Amino acid sequence: MVTNKKDIRALTKDQLRDFFVAQGDKAFRGNQVYEWLWQKSAHSFEAMTNISKDTRDLLDTHFVINHIEVDTMQRSNDGTIKNAVKLHDGLIVESVLIPTPTRTTACVSSQVGCSLDCKFCATARLKRMRNLNPDEIYDQVVAIDRESKTYFNRPLSNIVFMGMGEPLMNYNNVIKAIDKITSDEGLGMSPKRITLSTSGVPKMIKKMADDGVKFNLAVSLHSAVDEVRTSIMPFNETFPLEDLREALEYWYAKTKRKVSYEYVVWRGINDSQKDIDAFVKFCKYVPCKVNIIEYNPIDDGEFQQASNEALENYIKTLEANRIVVNVRRSRGKDIDAACGQLANKS
Ligand code: SAH
Repeated sequence: MVTNKKDIRALTKDQLRDFFVAQGDKAFRGNQVYEWLWQKSAHSFEAMTNISKDTRDLLDTHFVINHIEVDTMQRSNDGTIKNAVKLHDGLIVESVLIPTPTRTTACVSSQVGCSLDCKFCATARLKRMRNLNPDEIYDQVVAIDRESKTYFNRPLSNIVFMGMGEPLMNYNNVIKAIDKITSDEGLGMSPKRITLSTSGVPKMIKKMADDGVKFNLAVSLHSAVDEVRTSIMPFNETFPLEDLREALEYWYAKTKRKVSYEYVVWRGINDSQKDIDAFVKFCKYVPCKVNIIEYNPIDDGEFQQASNEALENYIKTLEANRIVVNVRRSRGKDIDAACGQLANKS
């Protein structure tokens, strides 16, 4: 339904308080409504039971509450859950709940489609339709928190911005969403449990450092050789490794927090000794840890997971250089919920 009413969740708390004052009501009413909108995730004014009927009707004539709807939920045989989430304008994004024995992680999207063009990622094949609003990012987290409580009897413990989209190309909205997620007026989660993953936009990495953000930074590196990286992540031409390095040094100098590098090893692409040596060298620029990710095939074989020997070689060389390496097995592959597979297939 097309409406000219304003989305009430685009208002700050102060704007909501001002609205009530202008209507001859108390500013405090704004706090009550704000709590319903965020902490209690109300989807209708009717649900706001401590607000009078007259006030609810007033809100209804001025505003709508845009909210997401979990359109379909798929469960993998490893416990992973994938939500196809419908936005107020009918577009779809995906988010994933990844359970382990000790934690539940939400993998959330920041854009509909993606503005970047990584050759190995299914999301890159969807063109970027639009950025997600802060409430649309927040709502994905709320939906997964609820599913975690329903299916695993525990609240969500971690969030990674590794779903669809490049979060640093939608920086302002991502930051607003994280502010709500970490605020006591939202979900009250610790920023230490949140990781933003980026393909590496140097200018924005520096901005995050300047802004004093408290969450963790992961960079999808995949190669420390410019020609190789540009061939698989073409935007590397615009943001070459030297600029990325400089931005990461700036990040570390300001935040004193380690960077995580996400890295997939592909046969014939980045599995030679030269690739390994370049990566080890890159890892020495700032304190870091490495996550080697299993490749999730999305095509007919242009990209293939490297041999075990090549992987072992990477791990051995990194460890010999005292770099912490985790090898992350894919989750939710059977429902196309693994890294790089989010493409609204259904
Ligand atoms: N744009 C952000 C976040 C989304 S991608 C970024 O680039 O970090 C999330 C992670 O999945 C990234 O590390 C990305 O490189 C990785 N990825 C993408 N396609 C993949 C695939 N087919 N198999 C394994 N990992 C993939």
